Amino acid sequence: MSKLEIKNLHVSVATEQGAKQILRGVDLTIQSGETHAVMGPNGSGKSTLAYSVAGHPKYEVTDGEILLDGENVLEMSVDERARAGLFLAMQYPVEVPGVSVSNFLRTAKTALSGEAPALRQWVGDLKTAMNNLRMDPDFTERNVNEGFSGGEKKRHEILQLELLKPKIAILDETDSGLDVDALKIVSEGVNRAKTNTDLGVLLITHYTRILRYIQPDFVHVFVAGKVAEQGGPELAERLEAEGYDRFLKANV
Ligand code: ADP
Ligand code: MG
Ligand code: MG
Repeated sequence: MSKLEIKNLHVSVATEQGAKQILRGVDLTIQSGETHAVMGPNGSGKSTLAYSVAGHPKYEVTDGEILLDGENVLEMSVDERARAGLFLAMQYPVEVPGVSVSNFLRTAKTALSGEAPALRQWVGDLKTAMNNLRMDPDFTERNVNEGFSGGEKKRHEILQLELLKPKIAILDETDSGLDVDALKIVSEGVNRAKTNTDLGVLLITHYTRILRYIQPDFVHVFVAGKVAEQGGPELAERLEAEGYDRFLKANV
């Protein structure tokens, strides 16, 4: 059982005009097996929340804390966060020139578990995971993110999720740019990880579409750098019908 606690988180980003405050006191707790949807208008700070948990150097935590099973995440390096069981799927995944998917995944697995996985077991796991995501076996020979289509990037993220078995995953707009078939396959992958490893998920999304396939237990509406409202799955349905207008009006 794992627990990620985000408490009173304030984050600013360095810009040419100086530090700009983006997160203004975020409180969120995610436990194993739970799925939390964070929804909100563009520019409300959703990705900033994801980057802050991941330890992106551009984002400075000015107040508040992040704890994973009571350990101070803010004192951990990016690698240590991953080893502790946090997984962040980037909204804009970076290219890793000259590194094949196969090497990348095995290196990541080795780094996370502290020893290289037994080859036969690993090859089998990789094959099963790729099969589950309907990925062509040749895909493992491609360089990471080089020329990947939107759908291939997302499947590669979920492939990592299935193989690296994190405790808590933050998925930032995993649904963007996917057609319905790819969205279903990617969602099934997340749901398998929830079932098989009791993964806790923070699912950041602008649209409710993905929530038809990955059912949230809790929905948090993000506006102007903090949670403006929270509720159960019915809140997502309400947002689908009404949009974010009432939050934006309340905020000016
Ligand atoms: P969301 O993901 O909800 O669309 P973001 O977290 O990407 O929102 O952005 C929140 C706000 O912070 C926006 O106004 C955005 O322009 C600003 N911001 C985020 N990252 C940076 C950055 N690296 N430099 C300057 N401004 C940033
Ligand atoms: Mg954000
Ligand atoms: Mg974003």
